[in-house]
This record gives sequence, structure tokens and C-alpha cells, in this order.
Amino acid sequence: MTLRLILGDQLSETISSLRDVDKLNDNILICEVKSEATYVKHHKKKIAFLFSAMRHFSKFLEGLNYNLTYIKYDDSGNSGSLYGEVKRAILTNNHEKIVITKPNEFRLYLEMLEWENKLNIPVEIRDDDRFLCSTDEFNTWASDRKQLRMEYFYRNMRRKYDILMEGDEPIGGQWNFDSENRKPPKNGLDVPKSYSTQPDKITMEVINLVEKSFNDHFGDLKPFNFAVTRQQALVVLDEFIDKRLSMFGDFQDAMIEGEPWMFHSHISFYLNCGLLTPLECIKAVERAYYDNRAPLNAVEGFIRQVLGWREYIRGVYWYKMPTYKSENFLEAHRKLPEFYWTGQTDMNCLKQCINETKENSYAHHIQRLMVLGNFVLLAGINPDDVHEWYLSVYSDAYEWVELPNVTGMILYADGGILASKPYAASGAYINRMSNYCKNCHYKVSSKTGEDACPFNYLYWDFLIRNETKLRNNPRMGLIYRNLDKMKLDKYEAIKSDSNIFLKHIDKNEKI
Ligand SMILES: Cc1cc2nc3c(=O)[nH]c(=O)nc-3n(C[C@H](O)[C@H](O)[C@H](O)COP(=O)(O)OP(=O)(O)OC[C@H]3O[C@@H](n4cnc5c(N)ncnc54)[C@H](O)[C@@H]3O)c2cc1C
Ligand code: SF4
Repeated sequence: MTLRLILGDQLSETISSLRDVDKLNDNILICEVKSEATYVKHHKKKIAFLFSAMRHFSKFLEGLNYNLTYIKYDDSGNSGSLYGEVKRAILTNNHEKIVITKPNEFRLYLEMLEWENKLNIPVEIRDDDRFLCSTDEFNTWASDRKQLRMEYFYRNMRRKYDILMEGDEPIGGQWNFDSENRKPPKNGLDVPKSYSTQPDKITMEVINLVEKSFNDHFGDLKPFNFAVTRQQALVVLDEFIDKRLSMFGDFQDAMIEGEPWMFHSHISFYLNCGLLTPLECIKAVERAYYDNRAPLNAVEGFIRQVLGWREYIRGVYWYKMPTYKSENFLEAHRKLPEFYWTGQTDMNCLKQCINETKENSYAHHIQRLMVLGNFVLLAGINPDDVHEWYLSVYSDAYEWVELPNVTGMILYADGGILASKPYAASGAYINRMSNYCKNCHYKVSSKTGEDACPFNYLYWDFLIRNETKLRNNPRMGLIYRNLDKMKLDKYEAIKSDSNIFLKHIDKNEKI
């Protein structure tokens, strides 16, 4: 008799911990526990989404005659931790062994490694083979490289899975169609409505629970429109392919006020908790190309995100942990300003992205990277605060994917392992890729002065502050040569405006 623990992001019937299950004798344990729901204060919608998806998944398994114990958050006797619940299960039943799929978080993995001794029962931790690149395979690829460039990893993955290939060559003669993507938003762009469904009884119960027990957490609980079953998640995928995929590439980086979902797929919630698998999404999108339903630039762009970036990010996490979490190459120490939690700022781009995050527990990649991420990079916010924020506010956030995106991609805190240079940009980038600046209190065309867009002077101030660490980066040479040519009065105005601005932030004054 084996106890098989399924975690909240392991909601796949094909998960390795269920592979050799004896339906009659083994017991599956799924539990909602306080320690996981509160170790950071997750967005209310995220907790409701995961609890509802877990409850639906348990009903699905029961329907297939699995023998299952489900512990609800407010069940009497719920100990509040995974360890406590496993211990309770062992004390009440005669289990001979525990089987778990490796958790995707280092903290939990370390904890589980101790269970065998603490509980005095064999604990088998199996690989999570829902990912397309195992940690061993990634470590081998990474071990003899100084810089871990995603592009080369991605090409190997395309070859390995024979995706968009013609023999040994990429379809279309190129691996990457980025030059055709990243168009600025057009006026009158018709963005399809995002997926929505009425919450059923299970979801309503969970919504009430979250309202009662997590009232002090960030974010809006309603309206709640996430898919919570595999069937519903498959509809999200189909709708993406039908309505959005053909424009995905063109407008991948575009931002429009009031359009949080744009032409993105919105599948990260479901991929990361196991309702969808990466290969089925990749294959479905590849098929759309062969069926002439979407152009190659869109299809390749999407596949690069899932087969390339997603797997690569996960590989970097396990390759670099545990030290990756304490990286702070640029020695950034400023506290995260309060307005990241309230949205109360006159900087319209930040206000829009924060308010949408609060409402939807979602922001698309460029909002996370080039608005919210760009600001914390330029303002020198400390990595711990930034991690906590990103991990709490997005419904797709788990440490394995949030941490490398924050440490490596937005903060350059790893000194260039993941990104070859910091993703720093002035207001001109945001103005080109969005319509946010039109409604902003600040002027994107002004470089310094009271009404100037803060991104403009903070950009140069960031380069000045971090000169000793960045000047020798070969990709930063041109920028520093421009800085060298800057007139003294402009240089001083930048320093002075940045100083005043950063002081306002330190005092949590409205900016
Ligand atoms: C600072 C920062 C934090 C992030 N935190 C998370 C996070 O906690 N969880 C998360 O899933 N993604 C995270 N991302 C990556 C990306 O922003 C989201 O995956 C994406 O916005 C999810 O929306 P979508 O499903 O509509 O994605 P689409 O734009 O439609 O992309 C398709 C899929 O590609 C994958 N993908 C794309 N980019 C990345 C990436 N950089 N890393 C990993 N997967 C990627 C995702 O699975 C996504 O669902 C973060 C990015 C940044 C810059
Ligand atoms: S002017 Fe600057 S702060 Fe305002 S929306 Fe544009 S980029 Fe953001």
C-alpha cells in the first residue's frame, strides 16, 4: 500500500507519481494547506484558481476509481502543512511507502528529502517528466558553457522533438522570425475577448473560502474567469489557436491600455499546474501552421516560448539553485515602492500594468519585462522584494519560473548568465510599443525636468550608477560611448532628477 502525494501544480493524470498506481490499494493524497497558500501572500485569484483546479482534479480521479483523500483548507484536523498531512495519513493507514513527483521548488524539495528519516518510511521522489528537457540533460548541456544562451538550447530542442523541421534544417530556412514580430500596436486593432466561464458550485465554494480566509491578500477575486478543469483548459488552447495565434507574432510585444490579454495564449496557468502539457500545446500550434491557419512567424514565435524559453528557464533554475536565489550582482538595495501593491502612481504605464495585475492576476510578458521589470531594474529595487512581488501576484507564478525571470531576465542580478545585457530601456521603448504615454501625467518626449518621463533620466542614471559593472560588457559599448559624449549640463540634470525621484520613492511619496 503506497501513499501518493499530488501537489497543487501536479494536476496531470500522466504525472510520474501515478504511473504504476494500484487503484485498489494505493491512496492518493491531495491537500490544501496553509503553509503553501501563505508562504508568500498569493493573489486571491491564484489561490481560488489552484484550490478549485485541485478539487476538480480530485473529482476527476475519483471518477476513474482512484482511491483518494482530499483535505480541504478548512477541514477540521488540517495540520496546515504538507508534512503534517502526510504524517497524518501515515498514522491512520498502513502505508509502506510514499511516492512523490519531484516538486518544482527547491525549498519543498529539500524539505521532502528529509521525510524518509523523519517519518521512518521509504520516500521515492520521481522526476517530473512533464518537462521536455530533464534536469540531467540540461545540466550536461550547461556544464561546459560560460553563458547559457537560450537560442542554442532552443535549436537543440527543435531537433530533439522534430518540431518545425525539414530534415536537419528549420522550416522557412531560419530558426527565428523575430524581425517580423514585435510590431507596435495599431489603432483600431480588434483584440478577441478572453476566455470566460461561469464559476460552478465547486469554484463558488472556493471563492467564498478565499474571501473569508485570505481577505488581506493582494488582488481582486471577482470576476473569476479561469478554466479549472483540463477540458476547459483545452478550450482556452483551442480559442487561442482559432482567434489569436495568427496575430501572436506580430503583436507579441505590443501593449494597449484596457487590453490586458492582447494576442497571447493565456495558457501559462494551465501548463504550470498540469492541466495542459507542453508537448500537446506545441503540437497543436505546429499543426495549425501545416493546416495554413497561422503564419510561420506566429507559430515559431509561440513554439520558441514554450519549447525554448519555458524549458530553458526551468533548466537554469535547477542548475543554479540554491545560490541563484541570493544573487545581487548590481547590489540593488532599495525597497519595493508601496505603489506596486496599490497602483497609485502618475506613471501611466505602471499604473495600467499594476491595476491589470491586481484585477486579473495576469500581465503579459512585455508588461512584466519592459514596464514593471524595467522600472525595478532602473530604480535599483532589491531582488528579494521583487521576487516576492512576482511570485505573489501572478496565477502562473511558481519559483522555478518566476525566479530566473526576475533574477536573470529583469534584474541582471546573476551578472549575465541568462541575459547578455540588462533589459534596460528609456520611455521611448514604452512609447513605441504601447499607447500608455498618451494618457500619462509625464511627457515621454522630455528627457529631464519636472514633467519628464522618469524612465528617461532613470535609464541614464542606471548606466552611470552601474558603470563599473557594465561598461566592459561588449553589448553595452555603444551606449557607454554615447554617455561619454553627453554634455555636462544634461549629465548633471539626469543625476539631479534621478536623485529627487529616488528620494520620493524611498519616502513612499506619490510619483
Ligand atoms: C519578470 C518576469 C516574471 C515572470 N514570471 C513568470 C511566472 O511566474 N510564471 C510563468 O509561467 N511565466 C512567467 N514569466 C514569463 C511570461 O511572462 C509568462 O509565461 C507569460 O506572460 C504567460 O502568459 P501567456 O500564457 O499568455 O504567454 P504567451 O505569451 O502566450 O507565451 C506562451 C507560453 O510560453 C511560455 N513562456 C513565455 N515566456 C516565458 C518565460 N520567459 N519563461 C517561462 N515561460 C515562458 C509560457 O508557458 C507561456 O504560457 C515571467 C516573465 C517575466 C519577465
Ligand atoms: S511617459 Fe513615461 S511614465 Fe508615462 S506612460 Fe510613458 S513611459 Fe510610462
